[in-house]
Amino acid sequence: MTNTKSTGNDVRVIVIGAGMAGILAGIRLREYGYENFVIYEKSDRVGGTWRENTYPGLSCDVPAHLYTYSFEPNPEWSRTFAPGPEIYSYFERVAKKYNVISKIRFNESIPYCEFKDGRWRIRTSTGYEDEADVVIAATGVLHHPRVADISGMDTFAGACFHSARWDHSVELAGKRVGVVGTGSTAIQITCALADKVGHFDLFQRTAQWVMPIKSVEYSEEERASFRSDMQALDAVRANLDKDFQHFANAVIDADSPEMKEIEDACLANLESNVRDPVLREKLRPNYRAACKRLIFSQDFYDAIQHPNAELVTAGIKHIEPRGIRTDDGALHEFDVLVMATGFHADSFIRPTTVLGRGGINLDKAWAEHPVAYLSISIPDFPNFFMLNGPNGPVGNFSLIQIAESQVSYVLQLIGQIRGGTCREISASAAATADFEAIRSVAAKKSIWATGCKSWYLDKHGVPASWPWTPSRFFEEMASPKLELFDQVG
Ligand code: NAP
Repeated sequence: MTNTKSTGNDVRVIVIGAGMAGILAGIRLREYGYENFVIYEKSDRVGGTWRENTYPGLSCDVPAHLYTYSFEPNPEWSRTFAPGPEIYSYFERVAKKYNVISKIRFNESIPYCEFKDGRWRIRTSTGYEDEADVVIAATGVLHHPRVADISGMDTFAGACFHSARWDHSVELAGKRVGVVGTGSTAIQITCALADKVGHFDLFQRTAQWVMPIKSVEYSEEERASFRSDMQALDAVRANLDKDFQHFANAVIDADSPEMKEIEDACLANLESNVRDPVLREKLRPNYRAACKRLIFSQDFYDAIQHPNAELVTAGIKHIEPRGIRTDDGALHEFDVLVMATGFHADSFIRPTTVLGRGGINLDKAWAEHPVAYLSISIPDFPNFFMLNGPNGPVGNFSLIQIAESQVSYVLQLIGQIRGGTCREISASAAATADFEAIRSVAAKKSIWATGCKSWYLDKHGVPASWPWTPSRFFEEMASPKLELFDQVG
């Protein structure tokens, strides 16, 4: 029977979500001797975003050897940017290997979570009640699909779905397919489908800069060498890490020479790889490269120039039974319509009701916009810790590296409770306000604040991301400055 009580220094932990970060939390809790924990997962399988996104062409635009737990290198990655199904299998395998699966209650989401009498009390979607000293919210960043509000959508006679809810029962061969959006998702779908379907229309509201980075296949010889020589694998990871840090350092300073190199590479890609001057102008963004999340693709310009493909830049007027009517009066007819229109990036754990000390509602605490000290802890939400929470480094890092350092940090906070120093710990209001004040000033110097719209921006137009170097982030995560936390009991 589950032990919902904590005895002595046996701290009980509830983890919400069994995606990349929740699996990691489970592994680390075990490693640190916390056996009294449970992971609640809304679905019937682990995998988070890699379970939910199954669209054609799905891959990760962070190199696979970086998008890997540090303690579980994977010599088998097939290419630089691994396909989604491979990533999904990796997480499933790791969760099994570390026996995290036995700690997961599947098919139970948590709509309600309250801190009362010094403990977190939760209720699941099945009505089950549980309690714990600590909650770790590993609920992901991009998981609530944003279905564009386009009039007439419900009148469409063909199949219509969001990219993160791909309907695999719909046959695509020979069909007319329309995709709305030009984010990372839509670009990957375009590369996968443009030459495979009867006709392909891409509806672009805003053009994208595209960095031509090739996803290189690892040969069997290379994979064999990674298998037999972990040092060779470490060297590959170290090299990729160096390149990625270079990129992460560039984007935080819009005026840096490194940023200029990226812009030049994107411009050269557009100029030299789009033959038709009219199409080239349609594809030319009117903002700086990397202001929106940069697209990494060597194939997109070829795909959109395929005879089957058409880039539609006229505004969408409405959807009707046969397709999309654009502002210029044209009707674009399809059999299948895909909304690659992104996610509600500021939801985090919500719509779960989260009530902190004295009943304060997270929605109220975040009325302005989501804020947390170092993206992990919220004042008056004691023992409630977020992985990949608000304003954290989402831009150009491997979210796995981020989550690993956050979990270590959180374990040090939980260690205060386990060690008997306190029973409740949360960032102080002053520390959180100070952090957010300097963070938002620095964020305005980043490339993300140079005049485009993107999901990186909060409702005030300030980039909701870590605006400093990766090394500063990792230094900050090394050990909590405990004097900046309120500790009770
Ligand atoms: P996104 O970047 O938010 O892009 C949404 C797209 O939909 C934009 O092009 C947007 O146009 C368009 N759109 C939204 N509403 C519209 C409307 N009413 N009419 C016309 N167009 C509309 O979403 P995403 O492509 O799903 O990517 C989100 C993030 O997921 C990425 O930035 C990335 O972090 C992650 N992702 C990662 C990978 C990966 O390889 N790791 C792959 C896919 C996604 P505007 O630009 O004009 O707003």
